[in-house]
Amino acid sequence: MTIKIEKKIKGYQVVKPEEKAAPAAAAPEKKAAEPRQAEIIQMHESVERPESLVGSTFKIKSPLFEHALYVTINDIVLNQGTPHEMRRPFEIFINSKNMDHFQWIVALTRILSAVFRKGGDVTFLVEEMKAVFDPRGGYFKAGGVYMPSIVAEIGAVIEQHMKNIGLIHDPEMDEAQKKLVAEKRAAYEAAAAGKKAAEAAASSSESSAGGFPPGATLCAKCNTQALVLMDGCQTCLNCGYSKCG
Ligand SMILES: [Zn+2]
Repeated sequence: MTIKIEKKIKGYQVVKPEEKAAPAAAAPEKKAAEPRQAEIIQMHESVERPESLVGSTFKIKSPLFEHALYVTINDIVLNQGTPHEMRRPFEIFINSKNMDHFQWIVALTRILSAVFRKGGDVTFLVEEMKAVFDPRGGYFKAGGVYMPSIVAEIGAVIEQHMKNIGLIHDPEMDEAQKKLVAEKRAAYEAAAAGKKAAEAAASSSESSAGGFPPGATLCAKCNTQALVLMDGCQTCLNCGYSKCG
């Protein structure tokens, strides 16, 4: 059988044996069940790059690097203008004045971009990257969040971006849990204020103005310096984790 191709070939895919068999079996039922439903496009490797993409740039300033890193993640918008519209990361670039790590950064961004374009669930990248430890030791960011390495921080940036575009849903604490954390925090602050009875008001307003109490240690669950001793029990004032359950 000969088929003349009139258009320029822009990409191709080999039909897998199971795909060959599937349409014959599935097609008749589908036609009856859902009449003329538009096809929902998911991210896959033969989705072509449009002329323009939407994106965000994040700045990373680490004490491990002399110069800031600028991480740009560009997204493709699939099924635009339909109820199935979605943004999916398509490519990532990292720019810096710092050339020491240039080859590794270029390699990392090319591989990340390739994984993005493969489609499927790409959120696993975040966990993989956030688990990378720098043998020279990590550092604390503003707000007491511990970053074990610069790679982990790039992972955190990708996570933030994926949250922004709705790809990762924050394992957001439910209302009950939020309330519990707020109560614990209030109780801790009240106890701390009680110790310094005279400056009670001043000290409690001071400690609640962002950040966590001085002397708080690192919580293993949320990587934030917010673990305090309450009623003889290590309790995290950020995520509510408690050693005593
Ligand atoms: Zn915590």
